[in-house]
Amino acid sequence: MPDQVGKTGLVVSAHSADFVWRAGGAIALYAKRGWKIKIICLSLGARGESAKMWREGKGVTLEKVKQARIDEARAASDILGADSIDFYDLQDYPMRVPDEIVFRLADEYRSLRPEWVLTHGMEDPYNADHPLTSQVTQEARVIAQAHGHKYPEPPIGAPQVFMFEPHQPEQCNFKPQLILDISEVWAQKRKAFESQAAQEYMWDYYTHVGLNRGTQGARNSGRRMIYGEAYQRIFSLVTDTFI
Ligand SMILES: [Zn+2]
Repeated sequence: MPDQVGKTGLVVSAHSADFVWRAGGAIALYAKRGWKIKIICLSLGARGESAKMWREGKGVTLEKVKQARIDEARAASDILGADSIDFYDLQDYPMRVPDEIVFRLADEYRSLRPEWVLTHGMEDPYNADHPLTSQVTQEARVIAQAHGHKYPEPPIGAPQVFMFEPHQPEQCNFKPQLILDISEVWAQKRKAFESQAAQEYMWDYYTHVGLNRGTQGARNSGRRMIYGEAYQRIFSLVTDTFI
């Protein structure tokens, strides 16, 4: 797909590994097509999503957990073929987002000019950091679209936003409105799972999710596919054709 080369996509993850389980297939698929994918992790999930490291006990410190999470996320990013990964190092559980971070994200939109953005959904009763990340990601997008923001810097267009699948989709009112066929990059996604030692309990769970969405993808399309990744849209799809 030569016309795809050089296009960009942005992935905003609340914690350092969320993108691996939920968007790893999309990242690998688009990187393979020549896109530059940037991943931003607002926090490292050091407090709330690193239970295995804390349970190991003796000598564990917040700094050690943070460094391990950075190493794991970088390893996953490399396996998936992302162009770059940034860590904003906000606290997690609870996350609080100052205005300077919203503006930093808006600057990312302006410099990257992504075709699409992947982030969390707007509801998650199990995890307040996830909807907050979604809100901030969308707020920064709208700021980057504003003509008056940093005039005369050119505003961005209207990149589509796709919300990735939460851990318990029914409670989050998640609707799988788009199923991406990630069969051809599944091996990379699974390998990226296996680079996340702190959350080993997720490896098989998200393998089952991929298989289930793959089966549903085949059922909804008639296409031969094994693994899928589901997304929910926010904005209208604008097109001049139904199919
Ligand atoms: Zn998370």
